[in-house]
Amino acid sequence: MQKRKKIIVLGATGSIGLNTLDVIRSHPDCFEAVALAALRSKEKCDALAAEFGAKAYVGEDAAVRAVTENDADICLVSTVGVSGIRPTLAAIEKGMDIALATKEVMVMAGELVTAEARRRGVRFLPVDSEHSAIFQCLAGGGERFVDRLILTASGGPFLDRPADLSSVTVAEALNHPRWKMGPKVTVDSSTMMNKGFEVLEARWLFDVPPERIDVVVHPQSIVHSLVTFNDGATLAQLSPPDMRVAIQYALTWPDRLASTREALDLAALGRLDFRAPDPGRFPCLRLVKEALAMGGCATAVLAAADEWAVQAFIDGRIGYTDIPRVVETCLEKAPRTDCSSIEQVFASSDWVFRYLETQWKR
Ligand code: MG
Repeated sequence: MQKRKKIIVLGATGSIGLNTLDVIRSHPDCFEAVALAALRSKEKCDALAAEFGAKAYVGEDAAVRAVTENDADICLVSTVGVSGIRPTLAAIEKGMDIALATKEVMVMAGELVTAEARRRGVRFLPVDSEHSAIFQCLAGGGERFVDRLILTASGGPFLDRPADLSSVTVAEALNHPRWKMGPKVTVDSSTMMNKGFEVLEARWLFDVPPERIDVVVHPQSIVHSLVTFNDGATLAQLSPPDMRVAIQYALTWPDRLASTREALDLAALGRLDFRAPDPGRFPCLRLVKEALAMGGCATAVLAAADEWAVQAFIDGRIGYTDIPRVVETCLEKAPRTDCSSIEQVFASSDWVFRYLETQWKR
């Protein structure tokens, strides 16, 4: 690669942040971590900053400060939920490319954020394995010829569990069969809300309308996603389920860097399975489509309601099957607003949190 890239890591102590730092650690001649931000884990963040010679920021405004007080080539955004939006906008304002892991940024404010990035000539470099796969399939100018995007989904831990999921415990929902991730995204994977968010994310990242984005269940998590082009050819990206492959590509794009990671052994795998998702078992996929059809700030309502519901489930305040119920109720009750400013996104999200804290009864 041409020069050492400066990287800011937001959400440095989370699972994506630590994997990003692992990639930076493996290639000190290519990357330099200049600032790390974390919401709470002060000791961990300080220790990592000392190791990398980076500045540490901890607290509510840490991510925005890390962006405004430092310059970098790439800002990696992997904070949890709604909190990713302001620092992403701040980084775009400063002309940094965005390596995006926090899908809520696209789910809640995709139209606004991508318009802002176009205006500033800033690129989104997807970190999510599915979007990285599509990004890799499109390398070389393929975006002009896209017919369909096909997102793969592992199906999570409840793919084959007998239909009644009301007795699912927090420990069961946090036990993902393929990926080690933070608690929010692990629960979202088990409900397939995560896949719904990824449909929304793909819609904005690649500017493809939602009716041309499909989801297919692929339990082995080897094929990370596919693109079908208008001539009937389909390209896929395959690799072992290790999120560092996608993170590293986001940082090295348009180049690649050699790694010592284990490559794919198809003969040892033997088979790859695919099937359609079961809409009865995974109502969240339907709710995402409904929110999209409602337009305006409905997807912000969806994401805020899911954020509240997943935390309430982890805290033992609601049951597992209450998660889609909470989301559906909020989509019904929330005031319909258009979504032409970031303030409207936050107002919708605030309405949801206020409504659920005061009105939700089990
Ligand atoms: Mg993913």
